[in-house]
Amino acid sequence: SKLGTILGVSLGGLDMWTNELFGFSVFGTLKHGKSDAKSLKPAAECKPIVYPKPDGKISFDRLSSVFLSNTNHEEDQPIHLKLADPALQKTSELGVYGGPSTRYCPAGVYEWMEKDGEDTFVINAQNCVHCKTCDIKDPNGNITWTTPEGSGGPNYPNM
Ligand code: SF4
Repeated sequence: SKLGTILGVSLGGLDMWTNELFGFSVFGTLKHGKSDAKSLKPAAECKPIVYPKPDGKISFDRLSSVFLSNTNHEEDQPIHLKLADPALQKTSELGVYGGPSTRYCPAGVYEWMEKDGEDTFVINAQNCVHCKTCDIKDPNGNITWTTPEGSGGPNYPNM
């Protein structure tokens, strides 16, 4: 990611083959230049992407995929997704970055809804599939994933 697609893929291939054939890495372990959260750009610098609707054959809506994960949390358990500063979420996550949590979360946990004329951040924690994307991707590090009570979460019976 530091060197761009063409140079990065070429050198990645060289590194892979020296590892495979000779058992050593030319470059060792490289670090990313910045965190995932810092790689987000303000919404004003980006063009909206219009995705086609899921066709139910090769693409599926998020909630039917969450259903397949057998995700379950006790209804009354304490929320395991901690929002540190609700005001910052509104001014920055929504105001500056256009609410990326509503798109990066694979389970549709986060929603911005209008309540009494105000944008309100809603956390549907019972749908969380514990990927921890929100923990690393929130632009302000404002969301912390914590271990849920009572082993709740996804349950893939065939894995
Ligand atoms: S851990 Fe993953 S599934 Fe759970 S709320 Fe965060 S982004 Fe969504």
